[in-house]
Amino acid sequence: MITADLQYLVAFAGGDAPVLSVYLNLAPERQIRRSYRTAFDDLLKTVEAGLDDAWRTAVQADVERVRAYLRDQPPGGPGLALFSCSAQNLWQSYALPVPVADRVHVGPRPYLRPLLDVLDEYERYVVALVDKEKARLFMVYLGEIVEQEFVEDLVPGKHEQGGWSQANYQRHHAAHVFWHLRRVAEELSALLWRKPFDRLVLAGPPEATAELRRLLPRRLRERLAGTFPAEIFAPPSEILAKTREIEREAERVAEERLIDDLLDAVFVGRGVRGLAPTLRAISRGAVHRLIVTDAAGPPGAECPACGLLIAECTISCPECGGTPRRLDDVVERAVERTLNEGGLVETVHGPASDRLSREGEGIGAFLRFQLEVSLPIEEAEGG
Ligand SMILES: [Zn+2]
Repeated sequence: MITADLQYLVAFAGGDAPVLSVYLNLAPERQIRRSYRTAFDDLLKTVEAGLDDAWRTAVQADVERVRAYLRDQPPGGPGLALFSCSAQNLWQSYALPVPVADRVHVGPRPYLRPLLDVLDEYERYVVALVDKEKARLFMVYLGEIVEQEFVEDLVPGKHEQGGWSQANYQRHHAAHVFWHLRRVAEELSALLWRKPFDRLVLAGPPEATAELRRLLPRRLRERLAGTFPAEIFAPPSEILAKTREIEREAERVAEERLIDDLLDAVFVGRGVRGLAPTLRAISRGAVHRLIVTDAAGPPGAECPACGLLIAECTISCPECGGTPRRLDDVVERAVERTLNEGGLVETVHGPASDRLSREGEGIGAFLRFQLEVSLPIEEAEGG
């Protein structure tokens, strides 16, 4: 699975050898005559023009490998990510279930931001499709839906209740529905334990979903993202489409709340916003959770001697006087550094992204510790 390899890619460094990272949009219209191959060649030309001779030569083996892959492998999904570093035996390909923007990148490390964006945007959902006697549980992740379980509890029909009064029958029937839905709630708890998921969606006739909702334990109720009416034998494609709508809305709300929390944290000294303060916090290993927009970041620099990340392209490190290395996208490096140090990274989109751009130049972070306290006094005043 993608997430299992991610730590390896995050920690991977090509040393002196270049790492070629390729993202391609393989949406159906691009698959006609495989026009994405032309897109790769065009982007590559631009990227190669910016490389020095040694790297342009070194990356050729990777370029040929990517070309062969694009020629021989039929597309496995609407998006593709490839990482190649022949000198270090790195080759990873990912068929992504969602399209990504075309991008070719040559650098000392794999370029991971678009892949992280895809992973971040798609939380793991479980859909419980229920009626009074059946239940189907689906797992939705990265745009794919997989049916996990089918539960059927026999609810006695009228014909089995000979001689019962209507009121008696109603009570008996209601008890069976209750037992069935309670069992569904238990199955969901067990599933959460076996395959942890982020959010839960209930689907089915409103009276069944309303009752199931009342029976959910707290751990499941706090994951509840929405409910929609559906027939018990609805096709998975319909369940997926409805879930994606709920997913998009939940993501939007969660991202807005994340920015609120970030600004609160900044206010009480447990967070930073803006490029320079956030880079300084990362350089000091103080970042617990980095928040960035989905836009590309500005250029900057990193000092190889002391590790300082710098918002401008200076010729000498303000911390140790060393010679910083220029970075085309300093936010990309900020993301890698945060992940390398065991921190979390979240990318925001849409309205939350606009707000983070306005309020914090598109970047901010929650801190592990209050930064001012750990700084020498003159730095804290200067910052
Ligand atoms: Zn330095």
